[in-house]
Amino acid sequence: KVGSTGFFLFVSCFSFCFPTLSQAELKKQSMQEVRRSLPIFPYREDLLAAIHEHQILVIEGETGSGKTTQIPQYLTASCPGTRNIGCTQPRRVAAMSVAARVAQEMSVKLGNEVGYSIRFEDCTSERTVLKYMTDGMLLREFLTEPDLASYSVVIIDEAHERTLHTDILFGLIKDIARFRPDLKVLVASATLDTERFSCFFDEAPVFRIPGRRFPVDIYYTKAPEADYLEACVVSVLQIHITQSPGDILVFLTGQEEIEACCEMLQERCRRLGSKIAELVVLPIYANLPSDMQAKIFSPTPPGARKVVVATNIAETSLTIDGIIYVIDPGFCKQKSYNARTGMESLIVTPCSRASANQRAGRAGRVAAGKCFRLYTAWAFKHEMEETTVPEIQRTNLGNVVLLLKSLGINDLIHFDFMDPPPHETLVLALEQLYALGALNHLGELTKLGRRMAELPVDPMLSKMILASEQYKCSEEVLTIAAMLSVNNSIFYRPKDKVVHADNARMNFVVPGGDHLVLLNVYTQSGYSTQWCYENFIQFRSMRRARDVRDQLEGLMDRIEVEVVSSQGDSVPIRKAVTAGYFYHTARLSKGGYKTVKHQQTVYIHPNSSLFEEQPRWLIYHELVFTTKEFMRQVIEIESGWLLEVAPHYYKSKELEDSSNKKMPRKQGKTKEELG
Ligand code: ADP
Ligand code: MG
Repeated sequence: KVGSTGFFLFVSCFSFCFPTLSQAELKKQSMQEVRRSLPIFPYREDLLAAIHEHQILVIEGETGSGKTTQIPQYLTASCPGTRNIGCTQPRRVAAMSVAARVAQEMSVKLGNEVGYSIRFEDCTSERTVLKYMTDGMLLREFLTEPDLASYSVVIIDEAHERTLHTDILFGLIKDIARFRPDLKVLVASATLDTERFSCFFDEAPVFRIPGRRFPVDIYYTKAPEADYLEACVVSVLQIHITQSPGDILVFLTGQEEIEACCEMLQERCRRLGSKIAELVVLPIYANLPSDMQAKIFSPTPPGARKVVVATNIAETSLTIDGIIYVIDPGFCKQKSYNARTGMESLIVTPCSRASANQRAGRAGRVAAGKCFRLYTAWAFKHEMEETTVPEIQRTNLGNVVLLLKSLGINDLIHFDFMDPPPHETLVLALEQLYALGALNHLGELTKLGRRMAELPVDPMLSKMILASEQYKCSEEVLTIAAMLSVNNSIFYRPKDKVVHADNARMNFVVPGGDHLVLLNVYTQSGYSTQWCYENFIQFRSMRRARDVRDQLEGLMDRIEVEVVSSQGDSVPIRKAVTAGYFYHTARLSKGGYKTVKHQQTVYIHPNSSLFEEQPRWLIYHELVFTTKEFMRQVIEIESGWLLEVAPHYYKSKELEDSSNKKMPRKQGKTKEELG
């Protein structure tokens, strides 16, 4: 006992003699060493010279070579007094994480000289010179500053991702570069497609940063895997038990899967106990709070192994050092859009070969690595597409069309697209905006459309918020909009407490549908973690919903909407939802539902509060395709409302009930019942 106390004293004395300052110094030194060891470092001067010489430069370099974190620092260091540098990222997590890293490298406080800006979260100040932001945010900045006058350098990063917003930025920035010769444009990309970028930007030169890559052995399964989640878990444990040291990176498609995988891994490690070395299991996905995100970068403790379970954010946007093993089930979650029916849904699909190769490459950054593909070599060759289809060709364009119209760009057919969207998609977006009242019959922006464009949300959500003015329920609708925007992550449902969690959830159910349940959760929730914990509500999601709501409420002034409450009456609320989402109407039909305009078969998601009830008419917030086409977040409406909110879209004939059969339960509810 005495001995150990003595030891303790010795240690504390030791750390007193060498205060933590030296630790910080050491850390900083090693960070500078890392910076100097990056593949981009030897090219610093050449790169700066090329940027000086050319207005537009395409920069190609292997993921992890230092493009995102280093180039902006080279610029600020070499030309002091540079005005703002903006660097776009397709993903919010990347923008936040990279900004934090660069602030650390520059020894400044995040939000001062280096900051980030993502939707509903601005972490910048007047002092900010280097701003990482999502591509969507830069796009919105065109609304207030059409020539981006406050920027001297714009970096369109991760260009190869070809997100919708990045593609639109290409066209807009190419245009403003013509009359802003002082603006430098850098298009940074992983080693994919760079010739196309050069070609689009009038033969802009390509600066190539030679990569260093160690060989990666690729293994395929002999037969297709029935359950890739289970296969992932087994593979991780096998690697952990049989393979030499090195961290593991697993690619899954989204939050739910990732959380499930992490739980399974932790559970099995617990069962194996001290028979195996420590396995540090870390998730990373878009909605993960930033303190948790940062964890994936902390060094693995000696003797342990780290496994990072990620979405395709870790494909090229984030680089985690120390990865030797990659597990790739070969799937990703993608938006898919049917321009004929206007139906957009999220689908888990096989990723492209280009993606698979990027994923494999992550194993060979620090040493020779291994990539375990949980599919057959045949599937790789025959079932995967060569490259991912650009988002612009598989998404609803309502949002960007509204934005471009607000920028005064009326002729969208001749907009300078790198890859134009399908003609029908463009036409449908115009039709939808017309039906929402954002455009007039000449395709010009209406007053309503102008107000809608002020809100950084999709046109339907925007319309719903604006309609709440007429129905005098903006208080509630703002809450619903905020809750909807935190994407199905409100309710917490751990595997070992499913029954408790479902019971807790039932306590929040109110008649009328999921939107009203969300409203109820928000209204009842205290600010305490305790309350959330007891009610199986994710505290972080609630906090985020609150932030989003505050921001939206802040914008109400600008669009002149008074914030008032409907005092417990749900009809106005449901009408406002209908006014925004009348495109998403479905009618009960033989066990399932049919969408009203296109007669597509859809089903209520089992998690919905209306799953049992099956009302005759409803509106869904979104569709997800898993085993079937499921409607997520549904609300009951009356068909008559459709004529009220969208008279130019619905004809009363379409809304007649085809059968005269009596429905088993009464329609609608009285005000008293709704409380
Ligand atoms: P690129 O943009 O070319 O893919 P980055 O500039 O993102 O490369 O990354 C360069 C290096 O910086 C990475 O290999 C990694 O070592 C380090 N790095 C980047 N982000 C972080 C972070 N958040 N934490 C720790 N290290 C990081
Ligand atoms: Mg990068």
